[in-house]
Amino acid sequence: MSPKTVFKKIIDREIPADIVYEDADCIAFKDINPQAPVHIIVIPKKEIPNIEALQEEDAELIGRCFLAMQTIATQLGLSQGYRVVLNNGRDAGQEVMHLHFHMLAGRQFGWPPG
Ligand code: 5GP
Repeated sequence: MSPKTVFKKIIDREIPADIVYEDADCIAFKDINPQAPVHIIVIPKKEIPNIEALQEEDAELIGRCFLAMQTIATQLGLSQGYRVVLNNGRDAGQEVMHLHFHMLAGRQFGWPPG
């Protein structure tokens, strides 16, 4: 068995995290190294390493992650907008092999990204 990712350890409460949202399928917590005044990581509890590992049965689960983001945005008052980022694979800078969305807010973001 491959070792647990840090995100799985957060799900299992083996390491601490500042959790801002949780339901049966998804959990969200503050990034330990924030890249914006608000930086939340949103993950499905199911261990899916990346987009390539997604299966047909995961379609609703991923939709639920977006509904979680909607709730989090309301809770945190992100009425001025926020950026959602998914780093998929090495060239994108993915460090944690557990599919996750970054929610970034509280400052202006350029486009295209660097
Ligand atoms: P990635 O580069 O894989 O898209 O992003 C992984 C993110 O997870 C990074 O922004 C990093 O700061 C965050 N991260 C890594 N380890 C931990 C941790 O133990 N706790 C929290 N809260 N965030 C973490």
